Amino acid sequence: MVYDVVVIGLGAMGSAVAAQCARRGWSVLGVERHGPAHSLGASHGKSRLIRQAYFEHADYVPLLLRAYDLWRELETLTGERLVTLTGILLTGDPASKVITGSTASAKRHGLHVEILDAEGIRRRFPMMRPHDGEVGVFERAGGVVFPERAVHAFLGTAVDAGAELRFGVSAADWRRVDPQTIRVKLSGGLEVSARRIALTIGPWLSMMSASTGIPLRVQRNVQAWFRPKTLDFSPERCPAFLLDRAGLPNPLYGVPDFGEGVKAAFHAVGPDTRPDELDRTVTKADTDPIAHALNAWMPGAADEFVGATACMYSLTPDEHFAIGTHPADDRVIVAGGFSGHGFKFASVVGELVADLLEEKAPRVDVDFLSPRRFAN
Ligand SMILES: Cc1cc2nc3c(=O)[nH]c(=O)nc-3n(C[C@H](O)[C@H](O)[C@H](O)COP(=O)(O)OP(=O)(O)OC[C@H]3O[C@@H](n4cnc5c(N)ncnc54)[C@H](O)[C@@H]3O)c2cc1C
Repeated sequence: MVYDVVVIGLGAMGSAVAAQCARRGWSVLGVERHGPAHSLGASHGKSRLIRQAYFEHADYVPLLLRAYDLWRELETLTGERLVTLTGILLTGDPASKVITGSTASAKRHGLHVEILDAEGIRRRFPMMRPHDGEVGVFERAGGVVFPERAVHAFLGTAVDAGAELRFGVSAADWRRVDPQTIRVKLSGGLEVSARRIALTIGPWLSMMSASTGIPLRVQRNVQAWFRPKTLDFSPERCPAFLLDRAGLPNPLYGVPDFGEGVKAAFHAVGPDTRPDELDRTVTKADTDPIAHALNAWMPGAADEFVGATACMYSLTPDEHFAIGTHPADDRVIVAGGFSGHGFKFASVVGELVADLLEEKAPRVDVDFLSPRRFAN
């Protein structure tokens, strides 16, 4: 049998690609070296922020709008609640990129945000402690997506649409055997044939920089949960947040208490690592700075440490994603380098990669994410 597509790696992105391709009626084989929705890659930790007024680059907004539609579609298909809109408050100096970038994105794409000064933040969200002079951008459309549930939903959708998924199996290599066929070597000495490949191996893509031309740095990143002192941090009262403040190692972001505690982490703070050598032992040296910053931002939120886990960022030099054809074979589509902000896009990345596999122009312009930008 020659599969229409073999998807290598079934984390957030690969599971979304497998679901999209199978729903298009293609024969799909997905291979994943670990189990379904595991906690050894980049897609675990109970929650991920989702928002639209994107400070990182206004060109992401059309993708985000489509991503929201596709998350809702996946919820309808599976009957699972995958996204909860708690609203999100971005706070920082008025001149910071978080504030200027999010307001510029909102303006360019006609998104609704509210600008609050420090007093306005205190009145609206009394649990928060902005400094005088800081401002907030509140976006009601922001919130939380639940990663493990989402990956299971993609995998289930893929299987329902006829995909074959193999877990505990890794793809070791591939080679083109004729103009139409690629032979993929799997662990255990097996080989399968495919017309096309989707390469969605998250942090492990860093091991292939020489062949993909995508320079990637993998960074250890710790997310932590704390039991708060009061009920002020429930999602009904407290929005998701991101705080860009001088004195912090990088922005602190977090998620209200959905019953597991308030979650918080610093964006892109941690040592570089190789993906198979990630130090998974979390210590107080990892979590004390998070607790301290969280309690300064929302006193009582980090009253008691609950738990923490180490995860991996795959950072490109410009921290934008890398999605496009493999330089050595245009029948291989690569999607990686999600730089610590990719999960919210998984639903639309699935659609986008399926379009590229089909050689169809994507409905949203993604030229700015082409891996070709690293060629020089
Ligand atoms: C701590 C943390 C917080 C984050 N917060 C946010 C957030 O708030 N909002 C947001 O939008 N994004 C966030 N992100 C980013 C987001 O989670 C990632 O961009 C996304 O999960 C990456 O998914 P992936 O599929 O590329 O990688 P992964 O989930 O790691 O999937 C890759 C898969 O490939 C498998 N694999 C590797 N090699 C092989 C092989 N040879 N054969 C078979 N399988 C293989 C791996 O086992 C793995 O399952 C965060 C990331 C981290 C780490």
